[in-house]
Amino acid sequence: MTTTNELIELSERRSAHNYHPLPVVIREAQGAWVVDVEGRRYLDCLAGYSSLNFGHGNPKIIEAAQAQLARLTLTSRAFFHDQFAAFAAGLGDLTGKDMVLPMNTGAEAVETAIKVARKWGYEVKGVAADQANIIVMEDNFHGRTTTIVSFSTDPDAHDGFGPYTPGFRVVKYGSIEAIREAVDANTVAVLLEPIQGEAGVLVPPDGYLTQVRELCTAENILMIADEIQSGLGRTGDTFACDHENVVPDVYVLGKALGGGVVPVSAIAANADVLGVIKPGQHGSTFGGNPLACAVASAVIDLLGTGEYQRRAAELGAVLHERLNALVGRGVVAVRGRGLWAGVDIDPSLATGRQVSEALMRHGVLAKDTHGSTIRLAPPIVVTEEDLSWAVDRLADVLAELSA
Ligand SMILES: *Cc1c(COP(=O)(O)O)cnc(C)c1O
Repeated sequence: MTTTNELIELSERRSAHNYHPLPVVIREAQGAWVVDVEGRRYLDCLAGYSSLNFGHGNPKIIEAAQAQLARLTLTSRAFFHDQFAAFAAGLGDLTGKDMVLPMNTGAEAVETAIKVARKWGYEVKGVAADQANIIVMEDNFHGRTTTIVSFSTDPDAHDGFGPYTPGFRVVKYGSIEAIREAVDANTVAVLLEPIQGEAGVLVPPDGYLTQVRELCTAENILMIADEIQSGLGRTGDTFACDHENVVPDVYVLGKALGGGVVPVSAIAANADVLGVIKPGQHGSTFGGNPLACAVASAVIDLLGTGEYQRRAAELGAVLHERLNALVGRGVVAVRGRGLWAGVDIDPSLATGRQVSEALMRHGVLAKDTHGSTIRLAPPIVVTEEDLSWAVDRLADVLAELSA
C-alpha cells in the first residue's frame, strides 16, 4: 500500500507548488467528515472553501448527478438541452433576476460580470469607448485570471504577473466615502464581496451594503456582489446581501452552486443589464452543460426549502458563541456571520498554519488565511455536537500552545 508520505512526495515532485496543502491525503468523505488513506477521520471545517455547503456526498445532489451522468453530459451551447431551462429559471427565481449566464469557475463568472459591466457602460450608460472604470476593494479576492489579479492588493496574487489590465480603482473596503471619492462619470460598476472571505472573513460595517446600493443607484452604476463564497446559505441567508435586504444588480455565484461535484458558476442580472450580451460575444464550451445544470438545479432545490439557511443561522450562533468564549484564551478576535468564522489567533502563540497543523493532528481540518487567522466553515449539514467538538479541539490546541 502506498503510504501518506509517498503520495505527498510524488504529488509535490510532479506538480507545481501553487498550493501548500496540509499533510493529509483524503480518500473518501460523507457529510461533514473525511477519511484519509490510513483510515483516520477528520471533521472538514473548510468545506472546499464553501463549495461543500450541502455536505460531502449529499444524497439529493449525488442522485441528480448520477441520473444525469447516465443520460447526457455535454452538448455545448450550440444546441439546447433538456436541463438548461429549469436551471436558468430556477437560478433566476432564487436570485430574483430575469436572466442568468452560466460559466464554470468563479473567476470566469467574475470575468463575465466585468465584461457585462463594461458593455453595459458603453451601450446603456453612454461611457466613451475604452474609458470605463470599475471600483474594487482592498484585500479583495475574486480569482486568479490575469485581469482579476491585476486589481488584487495581495502581493502573492499580484506581483510578477504584469502587464496588468487597466480600468480598475482600488478603494478601502467598508468605507462608503472611499467609493464616493473614486466615482466619476466613467464608473460602470462597484465590485465587492459582501463579506471578504480570503481576507479573513471580514464583515463590513452595518449599513455599508445599503449605502453602496444607494450610491450605485444614485450614480447609475452597477452594484456587483461576488457571492461566490458568501452566498448559497453560508451566512444564514441565501445571499450575504440579504442580511441588509440589499439586492445587487449582478450576483456572481460559484463554489456551492456545483454541489461539490462539478464546477458551476454563473452571473444573474436583469434583462436591461445581461441583455447587452449578444451571440458570439461571450461563452464557454462547458458552461451550462447538462451535468452542471442537473447538479445546480438540485442545489437550487435544496436552497428552496430554506432549511440550509436556517441551519447555518442556528449553528452559526452556536459556533460564534463558543468561539467568542475563547477570546482571551489564545483567541484575539472572532468575525463572521452564520456558519462562517475568521478566528484571529494570538500571533505570539502560533501562526495560522501552525494552528491548522495542530488541529489536523486533533482530527479537525481547517485552513489559515493570512498571518495568524484561521477560518472555520464546515458543511452546513454538520451536527451541533460535531461542531462543538471541533471548537473543543481548537481550545485544546490553544491550551497546548500556551503551555
Ligand atoms: C473562490 C472565489 C473566487 C474564485 O473562484 P474559482 O472557482 O476558484 O475561480 C472568486 N471570488 C470569491 C469571493 C471566491 O471565494
